[in-house]
Amino acid sequence: MSVCPKCGAPEDGSHLKCEFCGNPISTENTFNYETFLKQFGDKMIIIASKKGESDEDIQTALASIITQLYIPSDKKHLLLLTSFVVGSAQTIGSSISYMNVSSQSKILIAWLGKSIEISTKLKLMSRGDPQIAQAVTLLDGLEKYRENLQKAWSGLWKFLIAMGMILAVCLFIIKFVSKI
Ligand SMILES: [Zn+2]
Repeated sequence: MSVCPKCGAPEDGSHLKCEFCGNPISTENTFNYETFLKQFGDKMIIIASKKGESDEDIQTALASIITQLYIPSDKKHLLLLTSFVVGSAQTIGSSISYMNVSSQSKILIAWLGKSIEISTKLKLMSRGDPQIAQAVTLLDGLEKYRENLQKAWSGLWKFLIAMGMILAVCLFIIKFVSKI
């Protein structure tokens, strides 16, 4: 089965546009789901390394394509998407700090939002299935990164306040010295 190259929704070849995201479909451009995920990862790297774009624009662009990812209905594709989302969220979530939080938080929030959507869909399927149960555990475990995100934001504020105080002290000293 081929999927939309933009969002991963299934395509049966009878439409000119993706029914899910509206992306124009050309017959040469369709992938199977594994290839789609690989291409999606590559596309994220290309967007992230775009020169001349602000961190904010890159972050917004990445968060937007993550949010538009289609959630498949069949188990095989859901499990593939789960590993992709879990891996991506872990990579950002475990490295988030006050240094990168302002350029990464929207992307992490987009991944966490997607993980909730997938987990919700999986929970409607057979919970007795050990693969599904494991995927749900992995996805729900990502919630711990929200805590990292909050810590990173408060770390950034503390850092900025500390820098502000150092600057104030420096200005005070310069003023004091220049009077002597
Ligand atoms: Zn689409």
